Amino acid sequence: MSIGFINGKYVALDEKAVPIEERGHQFGDGVYEVIRYYNGEGFMLEEHLERLEKSAEAIRIDLEGGIDSIRTIIEEGVKKAAIPDCSVYLQITRGAAERNHLFPKDVPPSVSMTIKPMAPFSKEMLNNGVSVITHPDERWANCYIKSLNLLPNILAKQAAAEKHAYEAILYKDGKVTECSSSTIFIVLNDTVITTPLSKQILPGITRMAVKEICEKAAIRFEEREYTTEELFSADEVFLTSTTSEVLPVTHIDDRKVAEGTPGNLTTLLMELFKAKTGQ
Ligand code: PMP
Repeated sequence: MSIGFINGKYVALDEKAVPIEERGHQFGDGVYEVIRYYNGEGFMLEEHLERLEKSAEAIRIDLEGGIDSIRTIIEEGVKKAAIPDCSVYLQITRGAAERNHLFPKDVPPSVSMTIKPMAPFSKEMLNNGVSVITHPDERWANCYIKSLNLLPNILAKQAAAEKHAYEAILYKDGKVTECSSSTIFIVLNDTVITTPLSKQILPGITRMAVKEICEKAAIRFEEREYTTEELFSADEVFLTSTTSEVLPVTHIDDRKVAEGTPGNLTTLLMELFKAKTGQ
C-alpha cells in the first residue's frame, strides 16, 4: 500500500498534513529526489542521496542530521511500506513560516516522502519505442539543482502529451539539453552521445548508470554538445530516467528516427540496464 510521511509522522496520501504557509507550497522553495527500489533494494541510493545533498546545499537548506538522517527516513519508510518494487519521492523544503521571500529564522526544513508501488514498464512502449516532440528549453540557469520549481518542465511535458507524445526534448541555442523529466541520448556511428554535465542539465543517475554500462561493455560513449540537426539524423535515440529506465525513442516531431524502430545499441543497453537493476 502507498504511504506518506511528513516531518516524522506517517500519514495517508490524502491526509491534510501541510500548513498553508509552507514554503514548498507557496514558493516551490525546496528540492527533491525520486529513487527506484527493485526487489527491496534502493537502486543507486547513495548516488541519489549525494545529488540531494548537493541540491539542498545549492539552495542553502541545512539538513539537521545531514544526509544520513534522510537515508534513515527512506530505509525505514520502505520497510514500513513493504513494497519491494516501489518509487520513493523525497522532498525537502525550507519549512513553514509566515510568507516572506527572505529565509525564515530558526525554522527547521520540512521533510516529506511518498512511497508507491511501481508496475513494470509498459511492454508496448519498450518494444515499439515512444514518440517525442522538440520544445524550447525555457528553464533557468541552474538546472543541475533538482528544484521543486518545475513550471517550464510541466508546460513542455503537457505540450508533448497534447501531441500524443511521451516526452519533450528540450533545446537551447540550437543545442539539445535534456528532456522535461529525463536525459536524452543519440547514437551516431556506434557511439552513444549525450550532453556533457553542466549547470544547464540535471546530472541524471540513470545517465550515470548508462555511462558505467558503456564503459564496462566497451561501447563508445561521448559527452558533448550536439545540435537538433544531429538529433534528427541520429541512427538511434533513447531517453533515460529513474522511472522510465532506458526507453527507445522512435519518432520525433512525427519524423521517424532511422527506420522508426528501437536500435540495436539501445536494445543492448536496455538489457544491460535491466541486469544492473537485478531484474
Ligand atoms: N532530467 C530531468 C529534468 C529530470 O527531471 C530527470 C528525472 N529526475 C532526469 C533528467 C533523469 O534523472 P534520473 O535518471 O536521476 O531520474
